[in-house]
Amino acid sequence: MGPLEDLIACPHCDTLHNYSDVPEGAQAHCRKCGAVMLTQRAASVAIVLSLALSSFLLMIAAISFPFLGVEAGGLSNGTSLLGTVMAFSDDYALPLAIAVAAFIVFIPLTRLGALIVAVTPLVLDRTPRSLHKRAFGLAEQLRPWSMAEIFVVGVAVALVKITALVSVTYGLAFWALAGLVVLSFWQDTLICRYTVWRALDTSRD
Ligand SMILES: [Zn+2]
Repeated sequence: MGPLEDLIACPHCDTLHNYSDVPEGAQAHCRKCGAVMLTQRAASVAIVLSLALSSFLLMIAAISFPFLGVEAGGLSNGTSLLGTVMAFSDDYALPLAIAVAAFIVFIPLTRLGALIVAVTPLVLDRTPRSLHKRAFGLAEQLRPWSMAEIFVVGVAVALVKITALVSVTYGLAFWALAGLVVLSFWQDTLICRYTVWRALDTSRD
């Protein structure tokens, strides 16, 4: 084992490895569990930026377009994503509505924005500044609080129960959120955080 700063832990099983540079087009995998540990810098940052940009646009679509429509006995009603959240907003449940809006819309948007700011200089091959490093740190801190995917799963479970009673139409926003679930799964398996941190470590000021 070499000096401490040359050791990296597998993000999945915590096995320690010695760091070494990854050749062009190659990937380093964990010796024990096979998880991707290091990728080539240019590929990593390009993937982070493209996934973050597409997720950001999908999130904007999820807020702007109709989310769900229900119809029963000749009566129909439609709502947007924020409308769904604000359905809880009368009297004592208002704090809950604000928390849900933060977890499924505002925190994910802030996190994606921070990711885009952090990796843009790396993609453009400019020297990153401490601002970009702080932005990536913020994105990593917000990761556990960004819960749009959990909300979609919750909605899907609830819809299975009510489709027997009413007819449900899925709006564009629903599909945008479903796309976000797929992208966030990719983000977790494809992004090599260590590579991005190391690239940002060359920052000035
Ligand atoms: Zn591992």
